[in-house]
Order: sequence, then C-alpha cells, then structure tokens
Amino acid sequence: MYIFTSKTDLQQHLATFSDEKSIGFIPTMGALHQGHLQLIKESKKQCNTTVCSIFVNPTQFNNSTDLANYPNTLKADLEKLEKLACDIVYIPTIDDLYAKGEKAKEYDFGTLTTSMEGEFRPGHFNGMATIIEKFFNIVNPTIAFFGQKDLQQLYIVKALVKQMQSPILIEGVATVREESGLAKSSRNKLLSESAKEEASLIYNCLQYCKKNKEKGVVELKSYIQQQFLKQKNFTLEYAEFVALKTMLPIKDWEEDNKNAVSISAYHSGVRLIDNIIL
Ligand code: AMP
Repeated sequence: MYIFTSKTDLQQHLATFSDEKSIGFIPTMGALHQGHLQLIKESKKQCNTTVCSIFVNPTQFNNSTDLANYPNTLKADLEKLEKLACDIVYIPTIDDLYAKGEKAKEYDFGTLTTSMEGEFRPGHFNGMATIIEKFFNIVNPTIAFFGQKDLQQLYIVKALVKQMQSPILIEGVATVREESGLAKSSRNKLLSESAKEEASLIYNCLQYCKKNKEKGVVELKSYIQQQFLKQKNFTLEYAEFVALKTMLPIKDWEEDNKNAVSISAYHSGVRLIDNIIL
C-alpha cells in the first residue's frame, strides 16, 4: 500500500499508470468503520486501483467544536485499509490542499442545498464541494464512491461533476448499519454503549415510515417529532420529507422510490444523520 502526504508525489505515481487502468476513489475523513470499508470493497470490485483519502476538511465544518472533537484513529485506519488491500492512501496536510487563508468556493447547486444539511449547516456544502473538486482534479478517478448515508452530499457531488463537465462516475453505496439499525458513523465513537442503543430510534422512525407509508407525510413527520419529544438526551434537529430529485420538502409522496425521509438528531451532543428512500 502506497501512502502519500503530498499531491505532487501522488500525481507523479498516478502518472505512471496507463490510461486503460481504472481508478476508484473514496474520500473520507478517517476514523474508518465498516461503512467506509464497504466503499473500498466496491471500488476493489470495479476498478484496477483504489485510492482512499483521509482528510478532515476544515472548510466543511460550520461548528469549530465539532471539528475539534472529530475522532482521529489514523494508525487503525491504515491497518484496516492494508487488510483490504487498498492500493493508495492519500493523507494530505491542510497546506497541501489550501493556500493560506483560502476559503471555500461559492457554488450554486440550486434547490439541492436549500433544505436539511444545507439549512442547518450553513456553508457545509460549499466546503464539501471545494475539497471534492480539488480531490477530483488531483486523483482524476474513473469512479468515485460515496455513501447513501450522506444522501444530499451524494446528489450534490453528482451535480458537481456535471458543473465540472467531468466524466467521473459517481456511485452511491447503501448505508452500512449496526445490528440495532443505527447507521455506522465515525461520530458513533463519541457515544456510550447505552447512547448508541438509544440512537437506534432514528432507524426505527425511518422503518416506521417505510411500513406506514400510507399514513402520509404530515402524519409521519408528526409521529417522528413525538418520538423524539419523549427522549431525554436525544434532540431532533429535523425530520424532513423531500423529493429526491430536488431535495425540496414535500407534503405528499411523489412516485415510489423518488422520496427520501431524512433525520438529523443530537444524542448527548453528538450529531447523527440518516435517511431512507421510499
Ligand atoms: P466521512 O468520513 O464521514 O466523510 O465519510 C466518507 C464516505 O463514507 C462518505 O461517502 C460517506 O457517505 C460514507 N459513509 C459514511 N458512513 C457510511 C455508512 N454507514 N455506510 C455507507 N457509507 C458510509
């Protein structure tokens, strides 16, 4: 496994590849878990070479405490990647990617960024798209793999490659979960065992929506809100029902599989998100 900390070295290495060699790319912020590893496995299946980046991107954090508390488990991450025979790991420093004082670029993704994460994490998607555009220009992958857990991100990255007029394919990978249903997340490392059990409420609410779709958007949204009102250390930030295509809130279901229910909630100060497509 090659490990690069500078984009120049990484690009020199990639330049030795023939054009026929496909490159799979998985950008991560580290603290790797089975969710990340699933993306690596998909890339290994579909591409000749797999590149994984580990970089906690400061411009996508609108909350400095969240950034400061973000877990770092680099040694264990590298062991996991080595085990999966990941070919290349890119672990840049901030200076390798950003000029001094450089801020996120301003993008226009239309309605995709107005609700949910766009609403509650101002500037988040500009920061995310800024770093992903930089990575895409450095790695120039054939396919980039993103988790459906970050659904809005997945759709925005698809819009980004269109804006970049880039041929990079964006592939969404299904959310990997704990046995309780809780979506695997680097932030779960910040939760106690009992908090993790309670946090499966998010998944239970999403499953309730799936099983009771006929109750309609308004009733289901109110159901989720009520479930969270009963909780002590678990606060709902949003439960949003959106059209997949636009990411705009809906009052009635669109066609099957064209709707998403997304939940964001804080358990003991840790922010968790999840979604389901219905
Ligand atoms: P992060 O390190 O949180 O930025 O995530 C890196 C990539 O892993 C993103 O594309 C995420 O959507 C994806 N990811 C995170 N958690 C999961 C999960 N539980 N299942 C599948 N993919 C995930």
